[in-house]
Amino acid sequence: MSELRHNWTKEEILEIYNKPLMELLYEAATVHRKYHDPNTVQVSTLISIKTGGCSEDCGYCPQAARYHTDIDENDLMTVPHVKAQALRAKASGSSRVCMGAAWRNVKDGPEFDQVLEMVRTINKLDMEVCCTLGMLTENQANRLAEAGLYAYNHNLDTSEDYYKDVISTRAFEDRLDTIGNVRKSNVTVCSGGIIGMGEKLEDRAGMLVALASLNPQPESVPINALVAVEGTPMEDIEPISIWEMIRMVATTRIVIPKTQVRLSAGRTEMSREGQAMCFFAGANSIFAGDKLLTTPNPDVNEDMEMFGLLGLKPQKPFEKVSQPKTVEASDSQFQALGEKPKWSRPGHKIERNEEAKQKAKLVPKE
Ligand code: SF4
Repeated sequence: MSELRHNWTKEEILEIYNKPLMELLYEAATVHRKYHDPNTVQVSTLISIKTGGCSEDCGYCPQAARYHTDIDENDLMTVPHVKAQALRAKASGSSRVCMGAAWRNVKDGPEFDQVLEMVRTINKLDMEVCCTLGMLTENQANRLAEAGLYAYNHNLDTSEDYYKDVISTRAFEDRLDTIGNVRKSNVTVCSGGIIGMGEKLEDRAGMLVALASLNPQPESVPINALVAVEGTPMEDIEPISIWEMIRMVATTRIVIPKTQVRLSAGRTEMSREGQAMCFFAGANSIFAGDKLLTTPNPDVNEDMEMFGLLGLKPQKPFEKVSQPKTVEASDSQFQALGEKPKWSRPGHKIERNEEAKQKAKLVPKE
């Protein structure tokens, strides 16, 4: 059984990844049940608040200005526009909104002020707010935290060794610096990567070594499958098979046991059976909505139908921050008293969320 470790080696991770599939699934599902409710999946909505025209050269990204893709570039969205989209996301079951801007790094000034206002606005909707805005200073991370930001996404993308084959305009070290700046604030860290970019299995393992070695480990880890977009340097790469995705999800679950493992880009290519195996292997978060920034994603109604088929339920906002064992213990205490758990009683929802928000700010270092 996996315990929380920060010193995984590439060899150990490869050994897990290459186990006979049934062994791997059993082990991952067992770890999953130790730390999470296996029937609950977080639903997040990604809003592209500023699309295209990015100065970076990430080889997978259609938003890089230097590649000739057919995406529609857009300036920074207005606050009311973002609020309307967040309300729609909430109505269709999302508990988290992630706002993405195609920037190399955050620059202080009116645009950042506008993003801070978006964070404040969505925070008032009782939803978790996440941003992915590029590189960030410690001061900017603190300003986002003060505005009520819950999570900051900054993916490592791949291993340190393979990073320079994917991106030349910044270094792996820059990613770690931004994650470090986010960690100095109260904001939780979301960081993962993309598989299927031509990397070796050693690179997938290397990325997990880097993520697992962070202390604390990221609270969420998105696992993306490359969506090869015409006009990018990776346009001709063949899609990975579902088995690679299942193995990657299962390995991530074992190596970073407490995190929310998020099925991200590439879900349109997966069957429901394939996604069900990913949930069994430990995925417990998805992105909803018909677009993931610029690439296609399953329709939210299709996702809710799949949840119905699999008996999954969407996670409530701020629910994950307390350890499931604690929640179960207090549940059974209430049940022993013949009472319903506090948060299922009318009038207590907000109180629980406030309590969870406070806990989020006090998550002890592992
Ligand atoms: S992934 Fe982000 S930083 Fe890289 S080119 Fe795309 S928008 Fe820019």
